[in-house]
Amino acid sequence: MTGQISVLEKELVGSRNERRTLSVLGATGSIGTSTLDLVRRNPDSFKIHALSAHSNVEELAKLAIEFGAECAVIGDEKLFKELQTLLSGTNTKPSAGINALEEAAGGPADLVMSALVGAAGLAPTLAALRAGINVALANKESLVCAGDLVMELAAKTGADILPVDSEHNAIFQVFDTRRPKDISRIILTASGGPFRTFDKEKMENITVRQALDHPNWTMGKKITIDSATMMNKGLELIEAYYLFPVDLSQIDVVVHPQSVVHSMVEYVDGSVLAQMGTPDMRIPISYALAWPSRLPTPAEKLDLLDVKRLDFEPVDDVRFPALGLSRMCLEKGEGRTIVLNAANEVAVEAFLSGRISFSAITSLVRSALEHADKENWRLQPQDFEGVMALDKTARHLAETLL
Ligand code: NAD
Ligand code: MG
Repeated sequence: MTGQISVLEKELVGSRNERRTLSVLGATGSIGTSTLDLVRRNPDSFKIHALSAHSNVEELAKLAIEFGAECAVIGDEKLFKELQTLLSGTNTKPSAGINALEEAAGGPADLVMSALVGAAGLAPTLAALRAGINVALANKESLVCAGDLVMELAAKTGADILPVDSEHNAIFQVFDTRRPKDISRIILTASGGPFRTFDKEKMENITVRQALDHPNWTMGKKITIDSATMMNKGLELIEAYYLFPVDLSQIDVVVHPQSVVHSMVEYVDGSVLAQMGTPDMRIPISYALAWPSRLPTPAEKLDLLDVKRLDFEPVDDVRFPALGLSRMCLEKGEGRTIVLNAANEVAVEAFLSGRISFSAITSLVRSALEHADKENWRLQPQDFEGVMALDKTARHLAETLL
């Protein structure tokens, strides 16, 4: 979180009765909906510059009208006319396509909520950072594909990256950024997903419906499948590596089925600081929106007497190899995290549409990485175009391997 030390002195939300201007990219999704729920409850703290959605044009128009957004961007260009009609007579300017999305992301705002799903979130995230706008980052795939680019750009323009992912938000809350040398370890917690207790045989027959039924969190489809394979924790390992100034060897993962401890930071003296709460994304989202201040949220308060016990167990690398693959990609570098992410996006889509089995998701990612190694792909993209070119090649490879 670049520049965050200096920003500790920045204005608190509403401290001078000024509303923070916010853009929400992916406004119709799970994170977008929770974000707008908080905005709706705090009309004196926020106003909306831009809202975007991929294809749900009616919902986008409805939200744009409700929040009086200055602009609304629909990803799918074919839907532009429809958006224009729905917004006629309002003050919201409609636009469509990736260039419009980037323009909106870099438009006049104090904060951009980056909540698209997948590598598609990278371009608008970079556009916001390039304009020096703080980014509340839910789209972990941006860091997985281009962690160096994203962090370097934020450092250059002085924009802050506020992690929204519950684990990274937890770490952000307890990580003493003034004394990174005092930190010995980051401990990411993982719920273990719906198949934590399944044996290898049961894992062969997992249905889409079972995989979409997460025990603790309600989320978009892609991240729900990622949680079931535990690729989500792999992506989060990479996310943590780029966000926080620690070595890869200092990042550990433990399974914690109750999802009460959202992650921890261990200090050299043996102190361990954890952030806890009920599993409701509105808590980390509110912290990113209001930082360095806090907002009241409607999230249920944590009652430890009700929870009674907190369990912790190691990750089973045999049943859930995705985390190990992610660590390997970081260790070996050379664009492998891009290949991992692209193959995973293709594999998750293929699973959701019934083309491959659950266990084939991680196998496909592994095969794509092996293939890239065999072909001697030696790529460390230096810019956005390079990242997207490798992403495209890796998607093509994964499609072929399907
Ligand atoms: P979602 O599928 O519910 O919503 C995604 C949003 O992005 C939608 O508004 C959709 O219209 C838009 N979108 C998708 N593809 C697009 C494209 N190509 N161009 C333009 N817009 C596009 O996803 P979500 O669960 O809200 O997750 C969003 C991001 O936040 C993901 O990166 C996810 O990993 C991360 N995240 C989500 C949660 C959660 O609780 N949902 C928690 C932590 C992190
Ligand atoms: Mg998470």
